[in-house]
Amino acid sequence: MLLAILLSALAMTAIVAVRYLVTSGAFAWATGRVRPGHYAGLDAQIRREIGWSLAAAAIYGIPAGVVAWGWQERGWTRIYSDWSDWPLWYLPASVLAYLFAHDTWFYWTHRWMHRPRPFQAMHAVHHASRPPTAWAAMSFHPWEALTGAVVIPALVFLVPIHVAMLGLVLAIMTVMGVTNHMGWEMFPRWIVHSRLGAWLITASHHQRHHDLYQCNYGLYFRVWDKLCGTDRGLAQP
Ligand SMILES: [Zn+2]
Ligand SMILES: [Zn+2]
Repeated sequence: MLLAILLSALAMTAIVAVRYLVTSGAFAWATGRVRPGHYAGLDAQIRREIGWSLAAAAIYGIPAGVVAWGWQERGWTRIYSDWSDWPLWYLPASVLAYLFAHDTWFYWTHRWMHRPRPFQAMHAVHHASRPPTAWAAMSFHPWEALTGAVVIPALVFLVPIHVAMLGLVLAIMTVMGVTNHMGWEMFPRWIVHSRLGAWLITASHHQRHHDLYQCNYGLYFRVWDKLCGTDRGLAQP
């Protein structure tokens, strides 16, 4: 049994690491096409970003692997795979609930990590990327990675979700994590500057966090930043 749990944790670590390398690699390549020279002179920083990210992959992979094993072998979690277990309207609702819960956790832990002591101990690694690149998506100190790694494994015990919707949540998490750091806005102006866009976080919003530090703390939505007066708008394109 212990061996099976260990293998599941190793497999999940490998999946997270490959997912990171493929996604960040793809958007780094796209950056080279869209903004040639944008990462010029950042080779040493990118090597550090990849190193921290691969260490974070293990920290994300281990709890995910243990929970995946428990789901398969012990019936843990509220993940379901029969489409008829919950009504259809619940599919998008569950995705939004996961994103909002993750965003809330991220906003408050992130804001806390900007206090001087936690910043030095946990969060300075992420901000050492100046400017961040597509490879910085998972560039976190192990302590910070731990605060992020527990969110989804905890939520699957609390909030029912179809396994395909969980895959969608993880895909959104991965793509937004990469694109918010790559240094240019991929979404068209009519989305970013729309009424809906005013509540969504894309690269223009998170870039500002990396420029100014004490603002724009959110992950997916601007709700907490706006409620708490920490929203400083979008970076200029
Ligand atoms: Zn960041
Ligand atoms: Zn920060």
